[in-house]
Amino acid sequence: MIPFLDLKKINEPYEAAFQEKLKSVLENGWYILGKEVETFEKSFAEYCQSKYCIGVGNGFDALVLIFKGYIALGKLKKGDEVIVPANTYIASILAILEADLVPVLIEPRLETYNINPELIPEKITSKTKAILAVHLYGQLAEMQKINEIAEKHDLIVVEDAAQSHGVKINKSQNKNSKFQNYDVTLSGVEESQSASAFSFYPGKNLGCLGDGGAITTNDEKLAKVLFSLRNYGSEKKYHNEYVGINSRLDELQAGFLNLKLPNLDSDNEKRRAIAKRYLSEIENDKIVLPFWDLSRNHVFHLFVIRTENRAHLQECLAQNNIQTIIHYPIPPHQQKAFSQWNNLSFPITEKIHREVLSLPISPIMTESDVNFVIKTLNQY
Ligand SMILES: *Cc1c(COP(=O)(O)O)cnc(C)c1O
Repeated sequence: MIPFLDLKKINEPYEAAFQEKLKSVLENGWYILGKEVETFEKSFAEYCQSKYCIGVGNGFDALVLIFKGYIALGKLKKGDEVIVPANTYIASILAILEADLVPVLIEPRLETYNINPELIPEKITSKTKAILAVHLYGQLAEMQKINEIAEKHDLIVVEDAAQSHGVKINKSQNKNSKFQNYDVTLSGVEESQSASAFSFYPGKNLGCLGDGGAITTNDEKLAKVLFSLRNYGSEKKYHNEYVGINSRLDELQAGFLNLKLPNLDSDNEKRRAIAKRYLSEIENDKIVLPFWDLSRNHVFHLFVIRTENRAHLQECLAQNNIQTIIHYPIPPHQQKAFSQWNNLSFPITEKIHREVLSLPISPIMTESDVNFVIKTLNQY
């Protein structure tokens, strides 16, 4: 059996270190916002080349808090519109709603599954105040173009980086790609008017043993508000400056993340090595492989193929003991929860949700597992 993602095996090498960490937290007797969280915030900020990192309870809260932070600073207000890709994981859209803002859905490019910047300008109204860029499946969105649009229309750029820990830009390689105009930059780490939300849900590229999340930003004012907002809007105990929430990264989870962060780059490299093999060795007219320019702008949180008869392919792979998952089966605008959007039409988004299938990919996948997946797909 080739499981889609074997989390137990991914965490196995850390078992002894995790036990030690638990012991040290127990001995320390400090469980919330202590040394482990501080250390992680410092290391993760450094890793992202960002000035500030704020540990929070999960990826969803990271997004909500960024929006609430901008509201507290007077840069956003209730009812403002936020542009977001129509095919994102629903959490991105729910976070906008949770902050009393209005999501405006925009179609992605079929080739990259990321938001199509060319479609953004026509959706901008006097109420549009922000763009939530999502680096879906681990591939950087077209940040240069998004940032240009944002600058021109004075919009805030927020990044949902829940699937893309560790993405990097490699401009020189990007120039040679067939999508020459896809000039990407990491905005969250360079722009002061920007913030990125991360999730450490166990299945993400950097995952803890429960829920966890973080925000990175270079904006000092925003960071200051966020450190307070995640802790009831209070920096000094029992003195509340803002209407905050409780969303703190646990000491213990931060401790586990401190042990795993040093291996994130090599783990991502292993994912890319498998992706390279899939891309060069899977040859089947019935299967569309994902676009990638071979640079480090993709961390392959997911390796997503497309095929017209998905149910049949998934069944065939299952019969060969290869587990696959659909990310995601129902587009947000067709979910029951969003009945107000159910009659809207997003043909590219709908096609993606009808045809995508995610193959197993992870840093612990063996060579023979990869061989078998390739062979099975080529025989299909
Ligand atoms: C996982 C995920 C989130 C939410 O993260 P949680 O930690 O589960 O709250 C948000 N956006 C995207 C794109 C995700 O994949």
